[in-house]
Amino acid sequence: KVRVRFAPSPTGGLHLGGVRTVLFNYLFARKHKGDFVLRIEDTDQTRYVEGAEEYILECLRWCGLNADEGPHVGGPYAPYRQSERKELYRQYAEQLVKDGYAYYAFDTPEELDEMRTRLKTEENPSPQYNHIVRAHMRNSLRLLPEETAALLATGTPHVIRIKMPANEEISFTDMIRGDVQFNTGTVDDKVLLKADGMPTYHLAVVVDDYLMKISHAFRGEEWLPSAPVHIMLWRYLGWQNHMPQWAHLPLILRPDGNGKLSKRDGDRLGFPVYAMNWKDPRTGDFTKGFREMGYLPEAFVNMLAMLGWNDGTEQELFTIEELIEKFSMERVHHAGAKFNIEKANWFNHQYIVKADNQRLAQLFMPVLKEKGVQASEEYVATIVGMVKERCNLVNEIWDHGFFFFQQPENYDLSPVKPKWNADKRQFFLDWASVLETLSDFSLHSVEESFKQLATSMNIKVGELQLPFRIMLCGGKFGPPVFNIAETLGKHETIARIMKALT
Ligand code: GLU
Repeated sequence: KVRVRFAPSPTGGLHLGGVRTVLFNYLFARKHKGDFVLRIEDTDQTRYVEGAEEYILECLRWCGLNADEGPHVGGPYAPYRQSERKELYRQYAEQLVKDGYAYYAFDTPEELDEMRTRLKTEENPSPQYNHIVRAHMRNSLRLLPEETAALLATGTPHVIRIKMPANEEISFTDMIRGDVQFNTGTVDDKVLLKADGMPTYHLAVVVDDYLMKISHAFRGEEWLPSAPVHIMLWRYLGWQNHMPQWAHLPLILRPDGNGKLSKRDGDRLGFPVYAMNWKDPRTGDFTKGFREMGYLPEAFVNMLAMLGWNDGTEQELFTIEELIEKFSMERVHHAGAKFNIEKANWFNHQYIVKADNQRLAQLFMPVLKEKGVQASEEYVATIVGMVKERCNLVNEIWDHGFFFFQQPENYDLSPVKPKWNADKRQFFLDWASVLETLSDFSLHSVEESFKQLATSMNIKVGELQLPFRIMLCGGKFGPPVFNIAETLGKHETIARIMKALT
């Protein structure tokens, strides 16, 4: 049975690359009628950040990519938080030591520092604890068994490290990259169990993927260098026949293709990189997210699907059902995918235009509230219908429709000034009185009375429309002017005419 997992470490906001990993897991699971597991990899206490797990869950919920098993819903392989599985990992680490595949290392931080300083060269700026170095360090491969026993008996702080073979060719088949080869001698003896008894990622990921019967493991390309450690662990633990099929997903690159897209690039270039707003509780740093910037989740998801994947045709707009049907890991590109904010906005625009006005109004309400504007959802929905064609983001409804919520403060008179005269002024004064008497303030009735009066006063309708627009909006923009009047209503329309004339 297909079982996949998203295994984030709760260390901060969720980068869009992380959401894409969620998405590919989700699509694959749904396509193959499998299970999608959420596992929280929180064994690194120093990187743990309060609130990050809730944030991740909320993000999955927002995107509609909910997991079938996880800390929030439980499941047959609970607990799904690695910190709650702590006791379980030590036995595997110890079994590895017993079988000769791992060893106790008692080196103090000072000794490790000393080693790194001593061996540091220009070509090798961060020397590793590898098969060469370990022969000179304080570990159970070098110490006499009695010495090791004594150190353990007196509770000397220690870690357990994997014993990477000095020179062995290993390979595996990546679903995206095909055959990938490594030499084990290039990888260091990674720590498996830390001095505090917590497993490292390397041990925990293998143990949990095994125990949770994960069939396919999809993760970012940055984990490719760790693959040899994991392959050796699967073998050493005797589970090689259960190793999941791996796919290492291509990086998401900066718009110029120069390196991995980071949160800082987003800040610098003025676009979001995180899925939702994130405030780091340690530093107070605040990062804006796609959700709060006014992206619709289905647009965000569609855009992410196209970052590194396509179905082989020109099609770009896919519903989630279509994505489930068409997705295949083999069609994911090897090369990194450039993130493009204009393209993201294009996707969002496509979805905004199609979206239900009532729903957009609901999403826009918080923006209005922030501006201190009160309006009914129904009123907002009408406005949404008039301006959404011009919007890429939900929040832009304000930019294109602010005048529906407040009277203009300033008027841009430049387009009308040259032709303005006393007759026109009189027209608007008279028309305001006519409007007072209108019992039907529908678009047609307003427009009709406008035309009738203009004709009777012998003024061209075309020359009156622009002034009227500026009276209502403050400038030469907005939807058709009689629609604006109808929406504002009789009272407000007359008030704006009078305000502009005084
Ligand atoms: N905990 C790892 C991370 O935060 C997960 C990598 C994996 O999926 O194996 O990226």
